[in-house]
Amino acid sequence: MTENQCIFCGIIAGKIPAKKVYEDSYVIAILDINPRNPGHTLVIPKDHAGTIFEMKNEDIGNVFQSVRNVAVKAINAMKAQGANIVQSNGAVAGQMVPHVHFHVIPRFANEGPVSIEAVLQVKKMNEEMLDKIAEKIESAELENPSDIEKGIEEAVERAVPEPKKPVKEKTDFSPAKKKSKKEEELEEIDFNF
Ligand SMILES: [Zn+2]
Repeated sequence: MTENQCIFCGIIAGKIPAKKVYEDSYVIAILDINPRNPGHTLVIPKDHAGTIFEMKNEDIGNVFQSVRNVAVKAINAMKAQGANIVQSNGAVAGQMVPHVHFHVIPRFANEGPVSIEAVLQVKKMNEEMLDKIAEKIESAELENPSDIEKGIEEAVERAVPEPKKPVKEKTDFSPAKKKSKKEEELEEIDFNF
């Protein structure tokens, strides 16, 4: 999808109507057309980037300040007791529009489920697996700028925001079948990394 065909770029350019609630030099914020709660707002960086990995370094801090400001406005205006800030990268993460955006969702005391983590089932992992995962993530070199550039390049290729792109690597996250609690604790998942 080019920037010309991008729905969010169209909204930023004023060619596509939206209920705008905020704008500054870096972002616009609009009401989500499928609100999960009153005040559910999308904060959209003005500079087109597919995922957070493609954003310019110098934009990230400013954009996140704007996200915080929109969350402040939304939570106070809706008299909410909390807010989720949700940002998805890649079709497999549920990204629907291939232009980076942040969901600001006011949360209220009288609703549920409380936790956004409730969307994803808890995966049981044993000590050995957790050690392996920790080692893998920790050992990724990000010490100098060229390492960061290389890492970002790979992440951009991985987190493809266009829906229905084939995934080359197979990671089996199939949920554990109903088992006794003890068995479930020992459930292993084939991560294939
Ligand atoms: Zn765009």
